[in-house]
Amino acid sequence: MMLDGKVALVTGGTRGIGLATARALAEAGATVVLTGRDEAKAKEAAAAAGAASGLALDVTDAKAVSTLVRGVAKEHGKLDIVVANAGIMEDALLGMIREELVDTTLSTNVAGTLHTVQAAARAMMRKKTGAIVVLASIVGEHGSAGQTVYAASKAAVANIARSAAKELGRSGIRVNAVAPGVIDTDLTSGLTEDAKAENIGKTPLGRLGMPEDVANAIRFLVSDDASFITGQVLGIDGGLVL
Ligand code: NAD
Repeated sequence: MMLDGKVALVTGGTRGIGLATARALAEAGATVVLTGRDEAKAKEAAAAAGAASGLALDVTDAKAVSTLVRGVAKEHGKLDIVVANAGIMEDALLGMIREELVDTTLSTNVAGTLHTVQAAARAMMRKKTGAIVVLASIVGEHGSAGQTVYAASKAAVANIARSAAKELGRSGIRVNAVAPGVIDTDLTSGLTEDAKAENIGKTPLGRLGMPEDVANAIRFLVSDDASFITGQVLGIDGGLVL
């Protein structure tokens, strides 16, 4: 199979895109470790996804990320694939943005992704091979009214991939981002039916995305089929024009 013999880690893997990605990587033959903030939920999700284990991890805690990634690489002898998926989204118009929203969004989406990429790079450096994917967003590329903080955080995530790819390429480590459009998960469950219909209307492929649409693209990007692809931000949005 495509990912036979590979060891993979997926953060925020208890539901949505992370869970679908853990499942897709496991089905392709990888040994998958998924993480979630809650240990019981992580274990439950790991069993559902066919992953090897589910561990508790809050990606805002740099030391915890570093310790966990090192531990996974030690236990399995190596780490080939890391998907920095954990993220949060809360909407607020400019005048309504609270400092707390800025702090939680940036510490989870930007710092959390950075911690994960740093730890992954350290673990992959030894073998001089590896593939990292981070979760950007279509709104990070184009902006979105009512989502200034989230969109800014996702623009930063895309640039973590672009910069890390430049720095790590000579070490055999590829770093790419996916930029999903509107995907049907808990994150977007607050959208009204009207908002969903409006998004579908602006999407040439005429539907919302499913977690599996993103998971399949990630599975490709971390596979050897993508061995000459790095520093890219791949839109997975059905052609949505914002
Ligand atoms: P989701 O809310 O269903 O899942 C997010 C996961 O991240 C959950 O498992 C959650 O527990 C975890 N998480 C949140 N904060 C965490 C933290 N501090 N430490 C560890 N885990 C944490 O969302 P989703 O739709 O599956 O989104 C996954 C990723 O894709 C996110 O980064 C999101 O921003 C991005 N994304 C989603 C969409 C979409 O339309 N759903 C679009 C573009 C980008």
